[in-house]
Amino acid sequence: MTPPLRLEPDRVVSTVCPYCGVGCRVDLYVKNERVYRVMAHGGPPNYGALCVKGRFGLGFLHHPDRLTTPLIRRRKGGELEPVGWREALDFAAERLAWVAAKHGPDSLYFISSAKATNEANYLMQKLARAAVGTHNVDHCARLCHSSSTAALSRSLGSAAMSNTIEEIPLSDVILVTGSNTVETHPVIGAMIKKAARNGAYLIVADPRRVGLAESAHLWLRLKPGSDPVLFGAMARWLVESGHYDRAFVEERAEGFDEWWASVREYTLEFAESATGVPAEKIRAAAERYAAAGAAAIYWAMGITQHSHGVANVQALVNLAVLAGQLGKPGSGLNPLRGQNNVQGAGDMGALPNVYPGYQPTANAAVRERWGRLWGTPQPETAGITMTEALESIGRPGGVRAVYLMGEDPVTSEPYQEHVRAALAQLDFLVVQDILKNETYPYADVVLPAASFAEKNGTFTNTDRRVQLLRPVFEPPGRARPDVWILARMGTRLARLLNRGSAASWEYPNAAAVWEEVRRAAPEMFGGISHARLEHENLRWPCASESSPGVSVLFTDGFATPSGRARLLPAPWNPPAEQPGGEYPLLLSTGRVLYHWHGGALSRRSALSEAYPTLKVEVNPADAERYGVRDGAAVWLVSRRGRIRAVAWVTERAPEGVVFAPIHFAEEAANRLTNNAYDPVSKIPEYKAAAVRLEPA
Ligand code: SF4
Repeated sequence: MTPPLRLEPDRVVSTVCPYCGVGCRVDLYVKNERVYRVMAHGGPPNYGALCVKGRFGLGFLHHPDRLTTPLIRRRKGGELEPVGWREALDFAAERLAWVAAKHGPDSLYFISSAKATNEANYLMQKLARAAVGTHNVDHCARLCHSSSTAALSRSLGSAAMSNTIEEIPLSDVILVTGSNTVETHPVIGAMIKKAARNGAYLIVADPRRVGLAESAHLWLRLKPGSDPVLFGAMARWLVESGHYDRAFVEERAEGFDEWWASVREYTLEFAESATGVPAEKIRAAAERYAAAGAAAIYWAMGITQHSHGVANVQALVNLAVLAGQLGKPGSGLNPLRGQNNVQGAGDMGALPNVYPGYQPTANAAVRERWGRLWGTPQPETAGITMTEALESIGRPGGVRAVYLMGEDPVTSEPYQEHVRAALAQLDFLVVQDILKNETYPYADVVLPAASFAEKNGTFTNTDRRVQLLRPVFEPPGRARPDVWILARMGTRLARLLNRGSAASWEYPNAAAVWEEVRRAAPEMFGGISHARLEHENLRWPCASESSPGVSVLFTDGFATPSGRARLLPAPWNPPAEQPGGEYPLLLSTGRVLYHWHGGALSRRSALSEAYPTLKVEVNPADAERYGVRDGAAVWLVSRRGRIRAVAWVTERAPEGVVFAPIHFAEEAANRLTNNAYDPVSKIPEYKAAAVRLEPA
């Protein structure tokens, strides 16, 4: 029973919203060990604003599905049975060590979590690299912004937002593409709408009529998958018409000739036919963007989740460099990160190719340095991505055991039946989480973890702001913080596999882990301590205790070896699966305001009442063509499966496209999606699968 709002709280605790990458600061009001009210804390990054998820979405904290005791399955096909922590940790460590000893360290895979703290992510990658000796570690950025990371890293040398959300009011022009910002990052969406009301020129490039399109001065409704042509044509027109920033390009960029040759065919007329956007609008968008004193680009998964996601992001990078819209307040390239700590998970090295602080594993000197720090030699073999790891299960030399923290691949990976079949073939699976999920039935060991409200540590939001969590209450039952669990697992695996000393796994608390992060990556985090975060707003890079960190990146130079931004070709390839024949429509998947990703949290809260069932957006012309009424039950069918949903007949979806939210595990959109991957980032193509629509 929810207590009335006028209750006098037992305590009010300031912490960070666990949902999206905006990282809103929240005050949790607690009575009788239950959160009964959530208010915005005031100050950055949300300045008193919250969305429905932060305000009404915390019911999961007290849900009966919380995992409260360790469980083990003693033999395949047996039941999960409750045990004490010591037995569960010994059981898991011994079996993981056995697989590593028999099949080699690369037969293990560690999936870290963008919902876990920085400190937990640091320990997860240390578990892989130090205790086991493999670079096989990754997290869900593989599924959302790995395309951004790949393109930004190679062109600019850094993959984070180059500017900050506090600078939104400083932008004269804001270009938003592939982001339904008002629903997925609502507080940033509201900031952008306010900036547009106050005089900023808002350009939205999106096939769907997303919320921001209503506020846009210019809406470019491009055909799905034609992004590189649109942005390539804008950049080409700037050069052809002399509107580009020649001085910026000559002083601070390289690769112009190769890039120019790659966009020769992208005339405005060609772009109009390829994208469906009138040439006049493309020209106007380009000139507005380039002429602005400060122009910022924001994007999300509508750009990245394609089998050519890296090219999409590269086209945006090229446009920003040619217009000279980098290195000054209110400008920049700003990938909006999804999960609350997806930025931090990458920063902490929960990726197969970099240590914490984005230090490359391919560099022998870097490996030697980390080997010295951890007292154990570092593997030379490159790690593989999460998507490659799941594909490898059951194949000779493939992954045989997985340690999963705060992830649910059955819900989040494309082509669900394929994922289920792979998980069933594993020798051993550890699931460490706060709630039961769709992957839980495949677990051999379940380790119950503390939620964001039951532990210390830090999250890093989408604009590099590191923020302190504060425990609100004790974890339920025998659940424990991730850091507590991982440190004990590290001790055991290091001893069993004879790698490094058990002493290097002694961490009395999360702050002790963070101190190791500061020493290991001093240029990024050296100046940030838990003590400072108690009363200061800090973002990385922050090398010294006297600095608040850097807001605008690339003011003096880029973080590439030459210090220059690299212009690179962004080739246009259509989606891997084209609509036609039995499957005449294109499916795009994504999020809605009331829910979050696989729905594990939001659907165990009051938000479930506000948005209880799966609704798919269908254009009126398609509805008429396929005999579908608004509000009627329909089947969506792809080559890989079918799901049942309610039709929402709306102009939001363009003709030929249906949009399905991803939050409903029982009718999972990923039963339909295609496991085609970008060749560089290995991101799945969640935004384009061929489907048909049938009345149900
Ligand atoms: Fe939480 Fe994001 Fe909503 Fe802020 S905008 S309250 S961080 S979900």
